[in-house]
Amino acid sequence: MDYPGRFDVIVIGGGHAGTEAALAAARMGAKTLLLTHNIETLGQMSCNPAIGGIGKSHLVKEIDALDGAMARATDRGGIQFRTLNSRKGPAVRATRAQADRVLYKAAIRDILENQPNLQIFQQAADDLIVEGDTVRGVVTQTGIRFQGTSVILTAGTFLGGLIHIGLERHSAGRAGDPPSIALADRLRELPLRVDRLKTGTPPRIDARSVDFSVMQEQPGDTPTPVMSYLGDLSEHPQQISCFITHTNERTHEILRKGLDRSPLYTGVIAGAGPRYCPSVEDKIMRFADKTSHQVFVEPEGLTTHELYPNGISTSLPFDIQLEAVRSIRGFENAHITRPGYAIEYDFFNPQDLKHSLETKHIQGLFFAGQINGTTGYEEAGAQGLLAGINAANRAFERDAWYPRRDEAYIGVLVDDLITLGTSEPYRMFTSRAEYRLILREDNADLRLTEKGRELGLVSDERWQSFCQKREAIEREQQRLRDTWIQPGSDEARSLDAKLKTPLTREYNLADLVKRPELEYADIAGFKGEPVSDIRVAEQVEIQFKYAGYIERQRDEIEQMRRQENTPLPADMDYGRVGGLSNELRTKLESVRPATIAQASRIQGMTPAAISLLLVFLKKHQ
Ligand code: FAD
Repeated sequence: MDYPGRFDVIVIGGGHAGTEAALAAARMGAKTLLLTHNIETLGQMSCNPAIGGIGKSHLVKEIDALDGAMARATDRGGIQFRTLNSRKGPAVRATRAQADRVLYKAAIRDILENQPNLQIFQQAADDLIVEGDTVRGVVTQTGIRFQGTSVILTAGTFLGGLIHIGLERHSAGRAGDPPSIALADRLRELPLRVDRLKTGTPPRIDARSVDFSVMQEQPGDTPTPVMSYLGDLSEHPQQISCFITHTNERTHEILRKGLDRSPLYTGVIAGAGPRYCPSVEDKIMRFADKTSHQVFVEPEGLTTHELYPNGISTSLPFDIQLEAVRSIRGFENAHITRPGYAIEYDFFNPQDLKHSLETKHIQGLFFAGQINGTTGYEEAGAQGLLAGINAANRAFERDAWYPRRDEAYIGVLVDDLITLGTSEPYRMFTSRAEYRLILREDNADLRLTEKGRELGLVSDERWQSFCQKREAIEREQQRLRDTWIQPGSDEARSLDAKLKTPLTREYNLADLVKRPELEYADIAGFKGEPVSDIRVAEQVEIQFKYAGYIERQRDEIEQMRRQENTPLPADMDYGRVGGLSNELRTKLESVRPATIAQASRIQGMTPAAISLLLVFLKKHQ
């Protein structure tokens, strides 16, 4: 049957990409449908219940700055919060939260169910309605036809999903969920490049069978960080500790014994796995000289005994899993509640997408999340948000929007995927961003919330809170510039113990806070009241302290932008560009970058080759 009415945006899949996509489109006023296998699994964390971490929390804060759900749900579900790299510079500082998976899921469901313009429907999507080169809607498993202007596919690991435990295998989307076979077959008929990737998860353990007294306890940080810019400590549930233990030589010996029944090492799994989150059998083979690896023992929630032993993801046979787990200190009597496994699934070459995440070949069809070759909730959520924005933009016949690499990690993520493609699950790192000092997690709101408001994404509540914060920062910065301290004054004398040399002339507070020996708290109380909001104080301090470096980075961006504006014609004949290596010519022909800046990010591209392109363009214009 044809479902009555028509949607502006239809989202397939209620995972991390799908929920942010549906919410973003609906916030922008698009009539949106979220079609998913099972309403009970909306916002489910397939693997470890943790959000954030280095590089990843930058994405979460950017999603939050655009009023997405991930950070708010984390504040409502987080049971242990930490600031990573707290002793390093602000560019690489990151927030990580261990989440109670039940509370996290409930928070996402609550946000979804209370979102105006959004309808949810439980059923598998089996087919896409495509007319010519344009998508028109979706057909479900029981033949219900939903018409829509834009369709966003966010099927995660479900397309052709195949689970491996040792040499046993069965079809599934993830443990306990059905795979998407019909849809995967249908997608393989479309002109899109498909390949296989794999990922894995560790066995889960019953906490009642674990001896925590021999492990190292890792409590959360005090003061407890919050994830969302609107976050409030009062939202956090009870906070608990994680623990650390280690594998040992016996564990490694047991794992090696199982390799002849490993789907990875017997060649049964063809897809590449996540290099930065390898299975434990991968680790002992790749780092054969290491006699021990850390295992983070993380609670799955406040109302369950299940633990997530982070670091021992495996697809070895169950008998080996059990023996290896029990060889680890504290796990001697461990009861495994769920075996570890690996899953292989279809992903699409992201080079077939535009920066808006619309497919190049089917108009109105957008892809987001794991199906684009990424791994991680945060990477999925970020893409979902962007696809949701652009699917709504398309329905409203507005131009696409996406942030540049110097504006957001979301921009880095999408540009990397679209320009370089990926042959292994892609995860975000701060090292992937050229302009790290500008793309900090502490200033994601200052970078993006105004744009989000313009796009129609940002609520009145967030906008007001943001404007107040921005004004408070400006007011305090002005006060520090206008407040002067004389040498020999009480204020100057109080700083002498901290300063290498006493003050010999008049300084304003803005200059003083730039000194490496001083912090905002040391000077803020001089001739006035310090700001009480620590987030305002943090901004004031970072912006003054790093002003020189930030300025330099802005100059580099300006220079890059001038190049970015140099377009490369879509039909450019790279064979005629003298001096290019065959390898680079082939890559340029395959990627067909739209600009010089995009060309410069192709793997293996050299400054010399960029000059050849520029010379060629100049000659032939
Ligand atoms: P998912 O969260 O998988 O959501 C997909 C959604 O789409 C589901 O709700 C599903 O029911 C729905 N769906 C699928 N097909 C259809 C259809 N035809 N019709 C309707 N609904 C459909 N990430 C890490 O960062 N590190 C790890 O170590 C890691 N290990 C993992 C191990 C395993 C075994 C798995 C399964 C995942 C792992 N992940 C890991 C990845 C992480 O879970 C994903 O990156 C993230 O969940 C991707 O989000 P998504 O929204 O793209 O897809």
